[in-house]
Amino acid sequence: MKLPEELLQTLEGVEGFHRDSFVRVHEESNAPTSIRLNAAKPFAGGDAATVFGQQLQPVPWAKTGFYLPQRPSFTFDPLFHAGCYYVQEASSMFLEQALTQLADLSAPLKVLDLCAAPGGKSTHIQSLLSAGSLLVSNEVIKQRSLVLTDNIIRWGCSNVFVTNNDPKVFAKLPAYFDVMVVDAPCSGSGLFRKDAEAIEEWSLHNVALCSQRQQRILADALTALKQDGLLIYSTCSYSTEEDEAIMDWLVQDMQLENLPLNVEAFPGIVTTTSANGAVGYRFYPDKIKGEGFFISCFRKTGHENPGKQKPAKPETISAKEKKVVETWLQKADLHYVRFRNEISAIPVDLLPDFALFQAMFGLQYAGISVGEVLKEKLVPHHALAQSTQLSPQVPATELSYENAIKYLQRQEMTVEPATAGWQVVRYASQNLGWINALKNRINNYYPKEIRILKARNDSA
Ligand code: SAM
Repeated sequence: MKLPEELLQTLEGVEGFHRDSFVRVHEESNAPTSIRLNAAKPFAGGDAATVFGQQLQPVPWAKTGFYLPQRPSFTFDPLFHAGCYYVQEASSMFLEQALTQLADLSAPLKVLDLCAAPGGKSTHIQSLLSAGSLLVSNEVIKQRSLVLTDNIIRWGCSNVFVTNNDPKVFAKLPAYFDVMVVDAPCSGSGLFRKDAEAIEEWSLHNVALCSQRQQRILADALTALKQDGLLIYSTCSYSTEEDEAIMDWLVQDMQLENLPLNVEAFPGIVTTTSANGAVGYRFYPDKIKGEGFFISCFRKTGHENPGKQKPAKPETISAKEKKVVETWLQKADLHYVRFRNEISAIPVDLLPDFALFQAMFGLQYAGISVGEVLKEKLVPHHALAQSTQLSPQVPATELSYENAIKYLQRQEMTVEPATAGWQVVRYASQNLGWINALKNRINNYYPKEIRILKARNDSA
């Protein structure tokens, strides 16, 4: 691995950068593999002490984060598809410290994850929020927002809205969010060990362009943060133009107050101070077990008049439809609405937010997609099978490992379902999706967009 000489030169003198060990770690080691467990989908052999039956090393700064001794084939692990864990780079999980140290996570919060795809930070934030909270997960690139939606569905939650908007659209919601996470698009030098091709694309010119874009994104979106609201800004770049310089700009030009974190318990994380005295945190692969990362936190001091949004009314469903739908979900404070030609379940507390987002934003997904009622019967949506709110009364058929993989590949299975009709199929008691068992065949309803395309003997 040949690191760009211009990068190494510009990092000389930057806090925590040591050329020899930095170059060596890139030449001699691979990025460690780490996962974050989904506490809402506990599985046998997956707890704080053991994961997959092995005693694993925890990620020091994230309660549900673990390093794996080697990279297994996630593609061929049904529990991965069931949303029992998310494969995430360890340094990024430090977001948990920013949130636990600086936000009141016991209160219902409105959180915006502005640059959210593929959803590592969003699924993490969702796991940390308390009841009544809303997470808006936004991704500007359409194709990536679809992947984000798939990952949110897999996580099984009901309090996330996925939007597909340019950051400037959020100026329509002045002083709306308590917390804003901006994990900005960047020049990507922190991920060179994971993606050697990114080295070819790296240039000083691109660093400068990224820095300008980061300012633009932040300036566009900050209106939507409340006074005293928390901004968490992160990149996976080592370049000071994208890190310390942005901190200075946020403090000087955007009048934010920089907030320190306590990192005493995490040796190896480097505290960096900008020219004007703001502090942020640098992660170097030769100092901690993870990839290159930068994070800094701020409080908004300026006041914004909350906008007067027109109260919109979501389209509700008929009493007949409600009767059909209700039997499929656990008793929870859910309200049923018509959304994108289907029925969705929205937590009652979030109904006003849903109405607003439906009227004003490119809202792609919200709550739990339940399905459609046809001839007084529900045709269930895949998201309902993955939801933690699915009623335990819904019939389920447990699959062997071989059949679970065939199911995820949308191939025929050799299975005798317990009952006829719609039912969830499970592996190790974790729901994978729907089948409809007819008299002489089983219809596999695993969504074809997310099916496993590889054959078992291909490398994962
Ligand atoms: N937060 C994500 C996670 O943890 O999985 C990773 C986000 S990635 C570092 C940055 C994201 O910003 C990408 O998904 C990219 O498509 C998006 N992006 C690119 N250009 C953007 C722009 N002009 N405004 C907002 N987001 C942008």
